[in-house]
Amino acid sequence: MTELTASTAEEKALNFIEQIVEEDLRAGKHGGRVLTRFPPEPNGYLHIGHAKSICLNFGVAQKYGGGTNLRFDDTNPVTEDTEYVESIKNDVQWLGFHWKEERYASDYFDKLYELATLLVQKGLAYVDDLPAEQMATLKGTPTEPGTNSPYRNRTVTENLELFEGMKNGQFAEGSRTLRAKIDMAAPNMLLRDPILYRIKFAHHHRTGDKWCIYPMYDFAHGQSDAIEQITHSICTMEFVPHRDLYDWCIENLGIFPSKQYEFSRLNLSYTVMSKRKLLQLVNDAHVKSWDDPRMPTLSGMRRRGYTPQAVRGFCERIGITKNENLIDVGLLEFCVREHLNKIALRRMVVLDPLKVVITNYPETQLEICHSENNPEDPESGTREVLFGRELYIEREDFMENPPKNFFRLAVGKMVRLKSAYIIQCNEVLKDTDGNVTELRCSYVENSKSSQDTSGINVKGTLHWVAAQTALPVEVRLYDRLFQVENPSAEEGDFKDYLNPNSLQVITAYAEPALQTDAADAKIQFMRKGYFYKDSDSTPDKLVFNRTVGLKDNWAKVATKA
Ligand code: ATP
Ligand code: MG
Repeated sequence: MTELTASTAEEKALNFIEQIVEEDLRAGKHGGRVLTRFPPEPNGYLHIGHAKSICLNFGVAQKYGGGTNLRFDDTNPVTEDTEYVESIKNDVQWLGFHWKEERYASDYFDKLYELATLLVQKGLAYVDDLPAEQMATLKGTPTEPGTNSPYRNRTVTENLELFEGMKNGQFAEGSRTLRAKIDMAAPNMLLRDPILYRIKFAHHHRTGDKWCIYPMYDFAHGQSDAIEQITHSICTMEFVPHRDLYDWCIENLGIFPSKQYEFSRLNLSYTVMSKRKLLQLVNDAHVKSWDDPRMPTLSGMRRRGYTPQAVRGFCERIGITKNENLIDVGLLEFCVREHLNKIALRRMVVLDPLKVVITNYPETQLEICHSENNPEDPESGTREVLFGRELYIEREDFMENPPKNFFRLAVGKMVRLKSAYIIQCNEVLKDTDGNVTELRCSYVENSKSSQDTSGINVKGTLHWVAAQTALPVEVRLYDRLFQVENPSAEEGDFKDYLNPNSLQVITAYAEPALQTDAADAKIQFMRKGYFYKDSDSTPDKLVFNRTVGLKDNWAKVATKA
């Protein structure tokens, strides 16, 4: 009984793709070999949706001792670029995955042409002269069968000649196509004599001007899988209707029997995910670049301070199913926070400074205090923080008329300054408009942290910096890029729903340690959030991105998991 429960639980923990792979392994399919591929089109930067696909493809192969090819699906010469190829490779590596082989669908153009010719020879493909519009009309509708093209019954010889002519550039763009000869009455519209090749006089980023005909996705993808002997070709749900054609090509060409399996795409709230839309945001300057920290791209997330572990943890947590849904971006932020809490260095930075003068502290004295780098990591040690007569604290940590449960600073009240002394506020100075400009405080001499003999108990601890050594830094505070949960589902243009306040730039006062911390250090500004040094930083001016705030809206999820 116990044994049964245990094995059932283990069974349940497998996602449906893993179940399929295990069944195939049990059946001895492909000699126990597992080979997947990740097939991005190099027409943009990778986003968090791609991360889900990468984690699945590489993860499944890794788990079963197989491999994963990185294949650039570069069959559309017009939108593709080498810049994108490089960024994609970089992002996959950043996520922590290693591909078996780097392949390009364009490497197979010769082979694909040969395979298309084979279909023609078998009488299973023909050259059609119908213009695009007419072809669409003759296609029928989901409820009405289509009509055969008048060119459908050309002889094999004529088709071979014309197809070669297409390849040799003898015909104008759009004048002819190569179509599969399947069934114009097929219930699946994609089987109604789909186009396999079109004429395009376009320069390709890898093959140059060698080709003026290019294979359609449906002819390139499955055949590329077969050429590489991919065992499990995993893609997203919108390709379900393509599966019949995928299988038809493989069967009729008699090539390696790769199989296609579909899972649901990742949709994330308060953002858009399609590369086409992300490109618009870049081109229309709504963001600064593909790696703008507000973008859902992996390069944007990296620049913002997200870690690969956090992104992988997120993909693990959302799981693999066939159900479309909108995942709360808060879950991603929870995963980021969870990892950063373990690794981030703690530093004190005041974002909105209010001056404090310790009236009973010597004018020029600076005193060393020791503060832990990361209480979550005993190995991380301590650092020196300088205490002096003039300090900055956060403006919101003082109130003139505080409510009862306000444990921060107010006239007559005491707080501890982190890793330093207990202070009491005695007097408030204001400008002529009545704005608070300075607090006059006194410190309790024998209350220094770790050697406190004062016997005084205070409830609040504040972060602070010494005015004399404080380092002004630029801080970029990010908010959601869109104001609505699902911008793509709203009426009109998705760009109408951009959040105009998605970026706020301020100057903050930091403890000097920030100057010497490693460039890629993940940092917690104590009580304020996690921050990461931006690549715009110069020796004279450090710039920090807010990765994510400290507030944890996902506490319930955490305790459940
Ligand atoms: P986009 O619409 O953003 O351009 P795409 O599907 O056209 O996406 P490709 O470069 O063709 O992008 O995708 C490479 C792989 O990543 C494909 O297998 C695709 O199914 C997968 N993928 C793309 N977007 C998502 C997503 N949101 N969730 C999961 N997988 C995705
Ligand atoms: Mg695509």
